[in-house]
Amino acid sequence: MSFSGKVVIVTGASSGIGAVTAEAFAKRGAKVVLVGRNIANLKTTETACKAANPNAELLLIAADVTVDAERIINSTLEKFGKLDVLVNNAGILAYGNILDIDVEQFDSILNTNLRAVFLLTKLAAPHLIKTQGNIVNVSSINGLRAFPNASSYSTSKAALDQFTRCIALDLAAKNVRVNAVNPGVVVTNIHTRAGLTKEQYANHLRRAKETHALGRVGTTKEIADTIAFLASDEASFITGATVPVDGGKHAMCPR
Ligand code: NDP
Repeated sequence: MSFSGKVVIVTGASSGIGAVTAEAFAKRGAKVVLVGRNIANLKTTETACKAANPNAELLLIAADVTVDAERIINSTLEKFGKLDVLVNNAGILAYGNILDIDVEQFDSILNTNLRAVFLLTKLAAPHLIKTQGNIVNVSSINGLRAFPNASSYSTSKAALDQFTRCIALDLAAKNVRVNAVNPGVVVTNIHTRAGLTKEQYANHLRRAKETHALGRVGTTKEIADTIAFLASDEASFITGATVPVDGGKHAMCPR
């Protein structure tokens, strides 16, 4: 898989799956646009990308995807002149029963996980048509299956899956592919950022041995490599797909 000369935007490149995805593209020769809010963490990802490929051309954009979509696309075009791949990875998680959560949680999750993806997709699409590029959205097992105490997040990801399929059809005639990955549990900052205590998180990871058929959680690299595959020419006949990268979790049913 080579992305030599390709321009790739990765949102949420300052942490977790996005950081390792940026590195995966840099390693394969892409010019990578690293988008995130935490500048210090973006710089850490920059260092990792340079370590993976000292010749990697990188652009760091400190931005909030919920308000800066236009600036993200414009800065990319100003710096690199085109766009080949958009990875919509930035996302947030929050927990809570419908009896306890408020509409602010719902709005903030939908705003980040769905509305920002709509905006970035709309602004990127004309440029992806020019390059015959593609989009990879980072959804979740929560898009494919229902879980208690995670309705806002799961709804945002289920909607993202449907958005992926619809935009794949909208852009198919223009030969622009649109796919999603649906990770199972992967060790990143997302769960503690959502409010899990250290102990709750350790318990969540312990339980993952039973909730994932392969008996373990996934790695950021396993997700990043699948994203890179879907974005590559090797996946040229794949569009509208939501690909579970979850150790078989989607195939399981409690008994
Ligand atoms: P992290 O919390 O480690 O990283 C989230 C990233 O999203 C950070 O880089 C963060 O940037 C960025 N981000 C969040 N909100 C915004 C915003 N408004 N503007 C710009 N950037 C933003 O989580 P993960 O790496 O785990 O999450 C990445 C994606 O993977 C998410 O979409 C998540 O839903 C999905 N996922 C994760 C799973 C897991 O188990 N880890 C499982 C299934 C799906 P910053 O820190 O700079 O604010």
